[in-house]
Amino acid sequence: MNQEVFYPLKSIGEVFSFIFGCVKVDIEHEKETLVDNFNEIFNSNINFHEIEPLLSKFCYFFGFNYKELSEKFKLLDDKLNARKNFVYPPVKNCLFCNDSLIFYEAKEILTYTKNGSQIMTFSKFKCSFCHIIYEIDRYLIRGEWFYYSECLSNYIYLSSYIVFERSLLENLNVHIIKNNVSFKGFTDAYNEGHKNVSIKPLCRKRLSEIWFTYKIRKFNVKFGLENSYFDPKFTEQYLQNNISEFIAIYSNYWTEKHLSECSSKFLLCKNSSKVIKQIFYKNLTNLLLKVCFDGNQKCRRLRCLAEIQPEIFCDETPVLESYFCIKHKENTVNLSNEEFSQPIDFDSIIDHRNQASKGYEYKLKFDSVPEFRWMPESYVQKWPNALNIFLKKINNYSDSECNVEKDLCYNKRKTGAVVTGIISCGILLHFNEILKGESLNSVRESVH
Ligand SMILES: [Zn+2]
Ligand SMILES: [Zn+2]
Ligand SMILES: [Zn+2]
Repeated sequence: MNQEVFYPLKSIGEVFSFIFGCVKVDIEHEKETLVDNFNEIFNSNINFHEIEPLLSKFCYFFGFNYKELSEKFKLLDDKLNARKNFVYPPVKNCLFCNDSLIFYEAKEILTYTKNGSQIMTFSKFKCSFCHIIYEIDRYLIRGEWFYYSECLSNYIYLSSYIVFERSLLENLNVHIIKNNVSFKGFTDAYNEGHKNVSIKPLCRKRLSEIWFTYKIRKFNVKFGLENSYFDPKFTEQYLQNNISEFIAIYSNYWTEKHLSECSSKFLLCKNSSKVIKQIFYKNLTNLLLKVCFDGNQKCRRLRCLAEIQPEIFCDETPVLESYFCIKHKENTVNLSNEEFSQPIDFDSIIDHRNQASKGYEYKLKFDSVPEFRWMPESYVQKWPNALNIFLKKINNYSDSECNVEKDLCYNKRKTGAVVTGIISCGILLHFNEILKGESLNSVRESVH
């Protein structure tokens, strides 16, 4: 090597490393870092101002145009950066025959990440022997979906049009625990914080749907339960079908975890394991406890409007876009009551507004003068069918849009959330859903 030509570099290794370093870093902005690191590694003494002349010197000797070359590097760099938005399935080999997978197809999907929403490319792979399709969070066998059961993937599908990054949901998790954040609050903060980078704002409803999906799947993974596929739009039904199993597993887990750390006397819930029950009965004579029952109003759900007996209503959750559960799907809101009859000249509900002090008001259209009249919500609620038509019109349910006004809903019947029984040292005895307020009944159910 000609020492004169490549001065101040001393060996071919230094020349190679120098060029490699220049290619790797964006030299416009990181010249100083490059020089510092280079000098430290090679114990040399290159000057910051020598980089540009050195590069043009190399190009001259090898017959390249420096400017042209740097533009090509820039292009290469952009392409490499774009590849960061590619997401691959978490498995490289077929879970059943261990064959290596081959590329099947890729799709661009709106993705909510910790750094705002963006379009990312999600690829599917395939086992050519078993014909199983592997996606980022699930695999398809003969038309049936299964979630990966050993772990949660880094990205989770809400639908085939929307994906969430898992770290965003973990972030939400921390905020719920530490800050009591609501879905609305988190959504607003997310949209405000990322408004300059997000290609589409986050929607509260979508966030709550993916949140419950994520929590259920995390629960299943943690306790080694079968991670069967369920539609994120129907998490309530999924929970309802499995709730007693979930409560039993969770009570046991909490009790055992607590017992390993707790030195005080304890009580148990009815689902506790055999081992714990034995310890419990040994200590029974020493037992003197104060149990605190308290309600938590956060987790509430809608209830079916069907009246089973006079004044006794169905406990089930209504199905999507209905006021009734699956069992009472055929019910209609009762119109026989005289209160419900509409004036003959009533045409339809055409608008609504929120009057802070008076609540919602509705603009009604009549066939007689005055043609348009603003009426309070209490008045309009007597005409559920007309209201229903209006609500459906403004609440156009769609995956990509969110124009739902959450307070504007005819069905005001909600559960009263959950009641918990806790000992002073923090052990959770039991929790139950309460249908109305905190009542003695709900407490009694917890005790028995
Ligand atoms: Zn296979
Ligand atoms: Zn304890
Ligand atoms: Zn029902």
